[in-house]
Amino acid sequence: RFITFEGGEGVGKSTNIQFCAEWLRSHGVEVLVTREPGGTPVAETIRNQLLKAHHSEPVDPMAELLLVFAARAQHINTLIKPALIAGKWVVCDRFTDSTVAYQGFGRGLPQAWIEELKLLVQRGLEPDCTFLLDAPLGIGMARARGRAISNGDVIDRFEQEQQEFFERVQQGFHWLAQHNRRMRRIDASQPLDNVQAQIAAVLQELTGL
Ligand code: C5P
Repeated sequence: RFITFEGGEGVGKSTNIQFCAEWLRSHGVEVLVTREPGGTPVAETIRNQLLKAHHSEPVDPMAELLLVFAARAQHINTLIKPALIAGKWVVCDRFTDSTVAYQGFGRGLPQAWIEELKLLVQRGLEPDCTFLLDAPLGIGMARARGRAISNGDVIDRFEQEQQEFFERVQQGFHWLAQHNRRMRRIDASQPLDNVQAQIAAVLQELTGL
């Protein structure tokens, strides 16, 4: 099974991914936790380029889109697919929904282009279940800003992006949640215990435990 976590900045993805992996392991499931962009050495190199604060030239949105999908091709073919074939569950921090939200809604690239690349790169691979951790923009941004002091890559992007960009990204996630039955929207502004109880209920459903 292939599970992904999505959401804007500072919505608690890492904590809840950890929770998800531990829940599955404690129920006897073998789990691989990974992330996008990244997950393998080559894909992490692309991530570092994408998240770099200061480029000597502006990054073209189409180039950004292709880099995200280049990283994804590497990630799928060298890590995700082999793990799924070996019978593991894969829990991934972000996947193509983030591309729709950030490069599509955020940067304004046509959804049709993303769909075409998705067909080429994923060849039918889709998450079985996607948790969308959703919180009002203000809450997530404040959390992410605080965390950014100790975390290199996030602050860089932050200083560059405008509020309106993050609003479009969030609209993208909402649109996706409305159009995909695999997506479970969870209100991430609730107390953590409630968020995790909701995640556990879905996992129970998925594992049949
Ligand atoms: O949440 P995480 O730390 O994984 O995200 C890192 C950053 O990567 C996000 O702040 C987001 O701006 C960026 N990103 C992106 N396009 C994607 C995925 C992530 O711009 N497709």
